[in-house]
Amino acid sequence: MSTSKINKRVPIQLHLGKHEPLISLETWTKNQILRQARNHHTAKKETPTRTYLTSQVGKCWECFAQGVLRRSGEFVVLQGSPGGRNGYLTYRCAAQKEQGATKNRQGSPEPRAVLQKIGLQTAQTLDFDAWKSRHQTTLNAKDVDGAVEALVKPLKLPPEWHPAILAYFQDPAGLRKMAGVRFNLEQKREKLLDLYYEGHVQKADFDKRMVQLTGQYEQLETSTFPEKSFLQPYLDDFSTLWEVLTRVEQKNLLLLMFEGLFFDCDAHLRWVIARAPFDQLLGLPPGGQRFPVPGGD
Ligand SMILES: [Zn+2]
Repeated sequence: MSTSKINKRVPIQLHLGKHEPLISLETWTKNQILRQARNHHTAKKETPTRTYLTSQVGKCWECFAQGVLRRSGEFVVLQGSPGGRNGYLTYRCAAQKEQGATKNRQGSPEPRAVLQKIGLQTAQTLDFDAWKSRHQTTLNAKDVDGAVEALVKPLKLPPEWHPAILAYFQDPAGLRKMAGVRFNLEQKREKLLDLYYEGHVQKADFDKRMVQLTGQYEQLETSTFPEKSFLQPYLDDFSTLWEVLTRVEQKNLLLLMFEGLFFDCDAHLRWVIARAPFDQLLGLPPGGQRFPVPGGD
């Protein structure tokens, strides 16, 4: 608005008012989601709970392969579990977990009825024993999370996302304050222009004051982003950015990026469904990427 006004009236080159909005509404909303996750994380610090990177976004390949789904049609998820033999973290199929609990309570009822009772739909032809035999083991969380990290770390961030990511690392109060100072400088400039065109200010005085305002404006820009250059390596290389995110932030990012990461009972990644635009950024086909069994068929 102010730019066109200036161009219409002033033949002098000005550096003011040509800036894009610092942060778009959409970006802000996204940041708030991430920030809530961060707040949630810090609030929980007193009673630390383990954060399983791949729970929820991780899906059970064995259930999918044998036609076992949630009644809602959703894939059966992997859940974190601290119950490894040597105290290491593991993942288990949620259906396996629930089925185990049901069976303990009720003896040995009809297998399909058990699965239906815990909210699953199964194919008529389901071989319950085969399904069970593929659910004997827990998955080592180190293997699962390692495969996921190897998958996401080569991500190339598009340059147009950089400002949003930089903004995420800024203090939101600082952003608001900066917007306020910028607004005041723009008001001063508008007023100065009016005074000049109404003949209340001489050209020499106008030029001098305009140079001052421009200087303040540029100072504002550089002083508010002192860590811009510091953060640049994180933007150029996603794997370094990944390392500085909290576990909760990493987890939320995975939920944003992927529809599902399917692991079989040997903790092998078998199928990846990435959401747009992450499928493209990761070089994955839109329908999902299948992976053959290592050393298998
Ligand atoms: Zn399963």
